[in-house]
Amino acid sequence: MAERLTLVDLAVQLDVIGEELAVLARDAQEALIQARALHEQCDTCNSRPGKRCITRNGRATRMFHRPRIVAATATADATHTSDGSE
Ligand SMILES: [Zn+2]
Repeated sequence: MAERLTLVDLAVQLDVIGEELAVLARDAQEALIQARALHEQCDTCNSRPGKRCITRNGRATRMFHRPRIVAATATADATHTSDGSE
C-alpha cells in the first residue's frame, strides 16, 4: 500500500502519539507516586512506611490518605526537578 502521507496527516498522527505519550507519562507518574506513598509515614491514620493506610475500623484502605500522596508527590517532583540544569 503506497499511501502517501501529507504533512497534515503526519501532524495529526504525531499529535495522537503525543497525547498517548502524555497519558503514559501521567500513568507512570501516578504509579510512581503510589509506590512512593507506601514508603511515607501517614499522618492521618499513623500507618508506618510499608503499611497500607487503615480506616478508623482498622480496615486497609484502597487509596492512601492525602498526606502520604502529598509527601510522595513532593518527593517525585523534587527528584524530577533535580535532574534539570542547575
Ligand atoms: Zn493513612
